[in-house]
Amino acid sequence: MALVTGGNRGIGLGIVEGLLHEGFQVIMGSRNLTQGRLAVDFLEDLSEYVDLMQLDITDYTNIKKAAKYVGKNYERLDVLVNNAGILGKNQKSLKEESIDEIQLVMDTNFFGPMRMNAAFLSLLQKSRDARIINISSGMGALGSLSGANSAYRLSKAGMNAQTILLSNDFRKDGIKVFAVSPGWVRTKMGGDHAHRSVEQGADTAVWLSVTNEAESGKFYRDRKVIPW
Ligand code: NAP
Repeated sequence: MALVTGGNRGIGLGIVEGLLHEGFQVIMGSRNLTQGRLAVDFLEDLSEYVDLMQLDITDYTNIKKAAKYVGKNYERLDVLVNNAGILGKNQKSLKEESIDEIQLVMDTNFFGPMRMNAAFLSLLQKSRDARIINISSGMGALGSLSGANSAYRLSKAGMNAQTILLSNDFRKDGIKVFAVSPGWVRTKMGGDHAHRSVEQGADTAVWLSVTNEAESGKFYRDRKVIPW
């Protein structure tokens, strides 16, 4: 059983589709159920293997309820993909950015995955091969920390740090934790000029869900380790 946050569009929907092709049953997290239903319909024949779940990663009460539902119905979770994210509206450098905007972006991109990991940990521990896959960004790589989109960069650098910390914490539990840079992808966030398709952007996350060749606690792009 796999769960993808923000599974209703963009890279998240691409990951849902890829996981279905790998034979997973998938819980599609969508904060808006109407949008989620449209996404499930888009999957046509594969939709029977999808369980749509209302999930807003900024709402811890909602997340804990979702974890209870998954525990009751599926008993364990094998793959958690922390995909949901926002770019933020300002795109400013850090010296110009407001604290309110940074808080808003961190609440989704940084605290959202933290809430998800905490709420689903006991279900991940019940899997014999559990994986947490954090959809990060090259914009959060330490070597790229300059200029615009500072709130977003901070949030993804923080997500990368979470990946390292958790992978070390969970090494004994056998839970693997990865960060992924999908590249620049044609989605609502990436825009029409991005040079990658959704399928290309989703590929490494789907591969990390099944491969035994990847190392926990590393940052991946195009199925290869990249620098933090
Ligand atoms: P997108 O098309 O804008 O989709 C974002 C998804 O996240 C939507 O499903 C959205 O739900 C969901 N979401 C946002 N806030 C949420 C919340 N509080 N709770 C639950 N869901 C929430 O973006 P995308 O390009 O597919 O991005 C997916 C991930 O890839 C993000 O983490 C992003 O940072 C990362 N990424 C993207 C690119 C790129 O070029 N596109 C590059 C690097 C990294 P709604 O439909 O309800 O808004």
